[in-house]
Amino acid sequence: MLIAIDGPAGAGKSTVSRALAHRLGFTYLDSGAMYRCVGLLSLERPGEPPATLAAGARIELDGNGRVRLDGEDVSEAIRTPEVSEAASRVAADQGVREALVAKQRELIAAGDWVAEGRDIGTVVAPDAALKVFLTADPRERARRRAVELGANEATVLAEQTIRDERDSTRAHSPLQAAPGAVVLDTTGLTVEQVVERIVGILDRC
Ligand code: C5P
Repeated sequence: MLIAIDGPAGAGKSTVSRALAHRLGFTYLDSGAMYRCVGLLSLERPGEPPATLAAGARIELDGNGRVRLDGEDVSEAIRTPEVSEAASRVAADQGVREALVAKQRELIAAGDWVAEGRDIGTVVAPDAALKVFLTADPRERARRRAVELGANEATVLAEQTIRDERDSTRAHSPLQAAPGAVVLDTTGLTVEQVVERIVGILDRC
Protein backbone atom coordinates (compact mmCIF):
# COMPACT_ATOMS: atom_id res chain seq x y z
CA MET A 1 0.00 0.00 0.00
CA LEU A 2 1.18 3.54 -0.68
CA ILE A 3 0.19 6.86 0.88
CA ALA A 4 1.25 9.89 -1.16
CA ILE A 5 1.98 13.13 0.69
CA ASP A 6 2.62 16.13 -1.55
CA GLY A 7 2.78 19.87 -0.97
CA PRO A 8 5.05 22.91 -0.89
CA ALA A 9 8.19 23.34 1.25
CA GLY A 10 7.48 23.85 4.94
CA ALA A 11 3.91 22.46 4.86
CA GLY A 12 5.08 19.78 7.31
CA LYS A 13 5.42 16.95 4.78
CA SER A 14 8.66 15.44 6.11
CA THR A 15 7.77 15.46 9.79
CA VAL A 16 4.21 14.30 9.15
CA SER A 17 5.26 11.60 6.65
CA ARG A 18 7.94 10.21 8.94
CA ALA A 19 5.54 10.16 11.94
CA LEU A 20 2.77 8.60 9.84
CA ALA A 21 5.11 5.90 8.47
CA HIS A 22 6.24 5.11 12.02
CA ARG A 23 2.65 4.94 13.27
CA LEU A 24 1.54 2.59 10.45
CA GLY A 25 4.74 0.52 10.30
CA PHE A 26 5.32 1.66 6.69
CA THR A 27 8.62 2.74 5.11
CA TYR A 28 9.19 6.45 4.54
CA LEU A 29 10.36 7.71 1.14
CA ASP A 30 11.74 11.27 1.02
CA SER A 31 11.77 11.96 -2.74
CA GLY A 32 13.01 15.53 -2.15
CA ALA A 33 16.28 14.07 -0.78
CA MET A 34 16.87 12.53 -4.22
CA TYR A 35 16.44 15.90 -5.99
CA ARG A 36 18.72 17.40 -3.35
CA CYS A 37 21.40 14.78 -4.16
CA VAL A 38 21.26 15.73 -7.85
CA GLY A 39 21.34 19.42 -6.84
CA LEU A 40 24.49 18.77 -4.80
CA LEU A 41 26.09 16.92 -7.72
CA SER A 42 25.23 19.79 -10.08
CA LEU A 43 27.10 22.21 -7.80
CA GLU A 44 30.11 19.88 -7.61
CA ARG A 45 30.15 19.10 -11.35
CA PRO A 46 28.65 22.15 -13.09
CA GLY A 47 29.87 21.03 -16.53
CA GLU A 48 27.76 17.87 -16.64
CA PRO A 49 24.10 17.79 -17.70
CA PRO A 50 21.91 17.31 -14.60
CA ALA A 51 20.02 14.43 -16.29
CA THR A 52 23.30 12.51 -16.71
CA LEU A 53 24.14 13.16 -13.07
CA ALA A 54 20.67 11.94 -12.00
CA ALA A 55 20.86 8.77 -14.10
CA GLY A 56 24.31 7.87 -12.73
CA ALA A 57 23.74 8.77 -9.07
CA ARG A 58 23.62 5.96 -6.53
CA ILE A 59 21.23 7.30 -3.91
CA GLU A 60 20.48 5.31 -0.76
CA LEU A 61 17.82 6.43 1.75
CA ASP A 62 17.55 4.63 5.08
CA GLY A 63 14.04 5.91 5.87
CA ASN A 64 15.28 7.73 8.99
CA GLY A 65 16.65 10.82 7.27
CA ARG A 66 20.15 9.49 6.52
CA VAL A 67 21.10 9.81 2.86
CA ARG A 68 24.09 8.32 1.04
CA LEU A 69 25.20 9.51 -2.37
CA ASP A 70 27.68 7.31 -4.25
CA GLY A 71 28.62 5.74 -0.92
CA GLU A 72 29.13 9.03 0.96
CA ASP A 73 26.89 10.28 3.79
CA VAL A 74 25.41 13.57 2.51
CA SER A 75 22.55 13.82 5.03
CA GLU A 76 23.64 17.26 6.25
CA ALA A 77 25.30 18.48 3.04
CA ILE A 78 22.00 18.30 1.10
CA ARG A 79 20.13 20.56 3.57
CA THR A 80 22.00 23.82 2.91
CA PRO A 81 20.17 26.78 1.26
CA GLU A 82 22.54 26.47 -1.76
CA VAL A 83 21.51 22.85 -2.30
CA SER A 84 17.81 23.70 -1.78
CA GLU A 85 18.13 26.22 -4.59
CA ALA A 86 20.11 23.82 -6.82
CA ALA A 87 17.57 21.01 -6.16
CA SER A 88 14.67 23.20 -7.21
CA ARG A 89 16.61 24.16 -10.38
CA VAL A 90 17.50 20.60 -11.45
CA ALA A 91 13.96 19.47 -10.58
CA ALA A 92 12.68 21.52 -13.53
CA ASP A 93 14.71 19.31 -15.93
CA GLN A 94 12.59 16.59 -17.52
CA GLY A 95 15.52 14.16 -17.83
CA VAL A 96 16.26 14.51 -14.12
CA ARG A 97 12.60 13.88 -13.27
CA GLU A 98 12.41 10.79 -15.50
CA ALA A 99 15.55 9.29 -13.91
CA LEU A 100 14.40 9.94 -10.34
CA VAL A 101 10.78 8.89 -10.91
CA ALA A 102 12.10 5.57 -12.28
CA LYS A 103 14.25 5.09 -9.15
CA GLN A 104 11.25 5.94 -6.92
CA ARG A 105 8.91 3.53 -8.73
CA GLU A 106 11.49 0.78 -8.39
CA LEU A 107 11.66 1.36 -4.63
CA ILE A 108 7.91 1.50 -4.00
CA ALA A 109 7.13 -1.54 -6.16
CA ALA A 110 7.12 -3.79 -3.08
CA GLY A 111 6.01 -3.14 0.50
CA ASP A 112 4.06 -0.41 2.30
CA TRP A 113 5.16 3.19 1.88
CA VAL A 114 4.51 6.73 2.91
CA ALA A 115 6.07 8.63 0.00
CA GLU A 116 6.57 12.36 0.23
CA GLY A 117 7.29 14.95 -2.46
CA ARG A 118 5.71 17.23 -5.04
CA ASP A 119 4.52 14.78 -7.69
CA ILE A 120 3.91 11.49 -5.87
CA GLY A 121 0.12 11.62 -6.31
CA THR A 122 0.23 13.17 -9.79
CA VAL A 123 3.10 11.27 -11.48
CA VAL A 124 4.99 8.71 -9.39
CA ALA A 125 2.01 6.82 -7.98
CA PRO A 126 -1.35 8.18 -9.24
CA ASP A 127 -2.99 4.94 -8.05
CA ALA A 128 -1.89 5.49 -4.42
CA ALA A 129 -4.37 4.20 -1.82
CA LEU A 130 -4.55 7.69 -0.33
CA LYS A 131 -3.32 10.99 -1.71
CA VAL A 132 -2.86 13.93 0.65
CA PHE A 133 -1.89 17.47 -0.36
CA LEU A 134 -0.56 19.39 2.65
CA THR A 135 -0.62 23.18 2.63
CA ALA A 136 -0.03 25.90 5.22
CA ASP A 137 0.07 29.65 5.34
CA PRO A 138 3.34 30.83 3.63
CA ARG A 139 4.45 32.78 6.73
CA GLU A 140 3.94 29.78 8.97
CA ARG A 141 5.82 27.57 6.50
CA ALA A 142 8.73 30.04 6.50
CA ARG A 143 8.68 30.26 10.30
CA ARG A 144 8.84 26.44 10.62
CA ARG A 145 11.73 26.18 8.14
CA ALA A 146 13.61 29.07 9.82
CA VAL A 147 13.38 27.30 13.21
CA GLU A 148 14.49 24.02 11.60
CA LEU A 149 17.49 25.63 9.88
CA GLY A 150 18.35 28.21 12.55
CA ALA A 151 17.97 30.83 9.81
CA ASN A 152 16.36 34.27 9.45
CA GLU A 153 12.61 34.04 8.83
CA ALA A 154 12.44 36.88 6.28
CA THR A 155 15.29 35.33 4.25
CA VAL A 156 13.61 31.92 4.33
CA LEU A 157 10.29 33.48 3.25
CA ALA A 158 11.96 35.25 0.30
CA GLU A 159 13.74 32.06 -0.86
CA GLN A 160 10.62 29.97 -0.31
CA THR A 161 8.52 32.32 -2.47
CA ILE A 162 10.99 31.89 -5.36
CA ARG A 163 11.03 28.09 -4.97
CA ASP A 164 7.21 27.88 -4.66
CA GLU A 165 6.84 29.92 -7.83
CA ARG A 166 9.36 27.78 -9.74
CA ASP A 167 7.93 24.48 -8.45
CA SER A 168 4.33 25.38 -9.30
CA THR A 169 4.89 26.96 -12.72
CA ARG A 170 7.49 24.59 -14.24
CA ALA A 171 6.44 22.81 -17.44
CA HIS A 172 7.19 19.29 -16.18
CA SER A 173 5.21 17.96 -13.20
CA PRO A 174 4.34 21.31 -11.63
CA LEU A 175 3.42 21.20 -7.96
CA GLN A 176 -0.34 20.72 -7.76
CA ALA A 177 -2.84 18.62 -5.86
CA ALA A 178 -3.54 15.30 -7.62
CA PRO A 179 -7.08 14.53 -8.72
CA GLY A 180 -8.77 12.90 -5.76
CA ALA A 181 -6.23 14.20 -3.24
CA VAL A 182 -7.41 15.28 0.20
CA VAL A 183 -6.20 18.86 0.74
CA LEU A 184 -5.20 19.42 4.36
CA ASP A 185 -4.24 22.88 5.68
CA THR A 186 -1.80 22.33 8.56
CA THR A 187 -1.70 25.98 9.71
CA GLY A 188 -2.03 25.99 13.50
CA LEU A 189 -2.08 22.18 13.74
CA THR A 190 0.52 20.06 15.54
CA VAL A 191 2.22 17.14 13.80
CA GLU A 192 0.16 14.75 15.96
CA GLN A 193 -3.10 16.44 14.92
CA VAL A 194 -2.20 16.18 11.22
CA VAL A 195 -1.22 12.51 11.60
CA GLU A 196 -4.50 11.82 13.45
CA ARG A 197 -6.49 13.42 10.64
CA ILE A 198 -4.73 11.35 7.99
CA VAL A 199 -5.20 8.13 9.99
CA GLY A 200 -8.89 9.09 10.37
CA ILE A 201 -9.23 9.55 6.59
CA LEU A 202 -7.44 6.23 6.00
CA ASP A 203 -9.83 4.43 8.37
CA ARG A 204 -12.78 5.75 6.35
CA CYS A 205 -11.24 4.77 2.99
O1 C5P B 1 11.06 18.47 -0.26
P1 C5P B 1 12.38 19.18 -0.45
O2 C5P B 1 12.37 20.61 -0.01
O3 C5P B 1 13.51 18.42 0.18
O4 C5P B 1 12.63 19.15 -2.03
C1 C5P B 1 13.69 19.87 -2.61
C2 C5P B 1 13.29 20.30 -4.03
O5 C5P B 1 13.16 19.14 -4.85
C3 C5P B 1 11.95 21.03 -4.14
O6 C5P B 1 12.07 22.42 -4.07
C4 C5P B 1 11.43 20.62 -5.50
O7 C5P B 1 11.89 21.51 -6.48
C5 C5P B 1 12.09 19.29 -5.77
N1 C5P B 1 11.19 18.13 -5.65
C6 C5P B 1 10.43 17.80 -6.76
N2 C5P B 1 9.66 16.67 -6.74
C7 C5P B 1 9.62 15.89 -5.65
C8 C5P B 1 10.36 16.24 -4.50
C9 C5P B 1 11.13 17.38 -4.52
O8 C5P B 1 10.44 18.51 -7.76
N3 C5P B 1 8.88 14.78 -5.67
